[in-house]
Amino acid sequence: METEVLLYEGKAKKLFKKPDSKELRVEYLDQATALNGQKKDAIQGKGALNNQITSILFQLLAQEGIQSHFIKIISKHEQLIEMVDMIPLEVVVRNVAAGSFSKRLGIEEGTTLPQPIVEFYYKDDALDDPFINDDHIAYLGLATEAERQQLRTLALTVNRALQHIFAQIDIRLIDFKIEIGKTAQGHLLLADEISPDTCRLWDMATNNHLDKDIYRRDLGDILPVYQEVYNRLEKEFSSCI
Ligand code: ADP
Ligand code: UDP
Repeated sequence: METEVLLYEGKAKKLFKKPDSKELRVEYLDQATALNGQKKDAIQGKGALNNQITSILFQLLAQEGIQSHFIKIISKHEQLIEMVDMIPLEVVVRNVAAGSFSKRLGIEEGTTLPQPIVEFYYKDDALDDPFINDDHIAYLGLATEAERQQLRTLALTVNRALQHIFAQIDIRLIDFKIEIGKTAQGHLLLADEISPDTCRLWDMATNNHLDKDIYRRDLGDILPVYQEVYNRLEKEFSSCI
């Protein structure tokens, strides 16, 4: 059997690779971080929930024609993915003002935006993932003009699909972040994860946070909240994936 090597250990996941394989095994970690890793805690069971939530969402997106790196779930806290060449951009889509958008622009959190807003951040921990514009992306050579347009279109397509999925389980999609990679053939592919760590999810009836803001803002335990998101997804969609 070929030996696996640890390719990368991040704040939320570990990636393992066999020498001649184009697939990666991902382990979702029982760890929560915020403020670029300055706040960090072990949270038993979080990895399994994010792995299972991401797996359901990537399968539902595939049914809507949105392909991702997801191949299959292999255990509660592990999945198999296609390895891609990551574009070092975090693409954020916002439907409702919240978080850094509210702070930066002075817009009250919870204000519905007339149309979704797409933002790009340069994924670089040392620089604290700065907000960047189109000219910065071109200057840094992070994506061509055509690729940037494709990223924007993909992000908006994912937004529509996710809004629809979450609406069916009485959740409002406030905003989210995605990451995208390039396949060996040069195609853009949705990668990384989509979970309560990377989305702001508000309960439709109560506006309660069902996401990582619970951790970022010290509002309580995230585990029951992530479990609630998983339970709703599982109940609604387990029969069709
Ligand atoms: P971070 O790097 O921000 O600490 P994670 O702990 O989630 O985040 O680490 C996962 C890493 O794997 C991220 O850097 C992400 O860009 C990268 N990644 C996600 N999907 C793929 C993929 N399909 N191929 C290669 N790298 C990936
Ligand atoms: N986000 C993320 N990873 C990051 C930064 C943001 O997944 O490194 C997600 C976050 O969960 C939210 C959206 O992107 O759903 C917008 O986050 P924002 O810019 O408001 O940042 P924050 O308020 O967390 O600083």
